[in-house]
Amino acid sequence: MTQQPLILADALLENSSWRCVKCDDGSPEVAMKGFKKDYIPPFAYVGLALGPLIGLLIILGRRVQHDLTLPFCKECWRNLKRADLFETLSVFSFFVSIVLGVALLLNLDSWTAFFIFPVLAGALIVWSQIYKRDSSPKFKTVSRKQVVVTSAASQDIVFAK
Ligand SMILES: [Zn+2]
Repeated sequence: MTQQPLILADALLENSSWRCVKCDDGSPEVAMKGFKKDYIPPFAYVGLALGPLIGLLIILGRRVQHDLTLPFCKECWRNLKRADLFETLSVFSFFVSIVLGVALLLNLDSWTAFFIFPVLAGALIVWSQIYKRDSSPKFKTVSRKQVVVTSAASQDIVFAK
């Protein structure tokens, strides 16, 4: 079920057309788009200390997904979709890298060889998260119950679950 904003800031509306929440573009191509924002309780990250796979399962199990709707221009929307793709690919590459690492460990009997691909994939995950943050609207607060987005025009838009 899509969450509608409680208050859609006037700043996003101009002459009855939307302004992009990310870059404030007001062209007619700006349209309302639905996307997801995860809230992950901080304790879920503790699971990562037990191992990446266990950590990921706890994170996926405990996260709360907010379904948000906001106006985006074509360019910003494309960037956000690309960021989602990079994120998915980076997580996928991490699993592949573990399999590759085990194969290298068994064949070369070297822990250095084991770590090469997982470290690269880990770097890819970090990079994709930075890219995603840069491509996303500015989130002021994200909690289990509420998401507050700050638009390019510095107005807060509140979503409640
Ligand atoms: Zn934009």
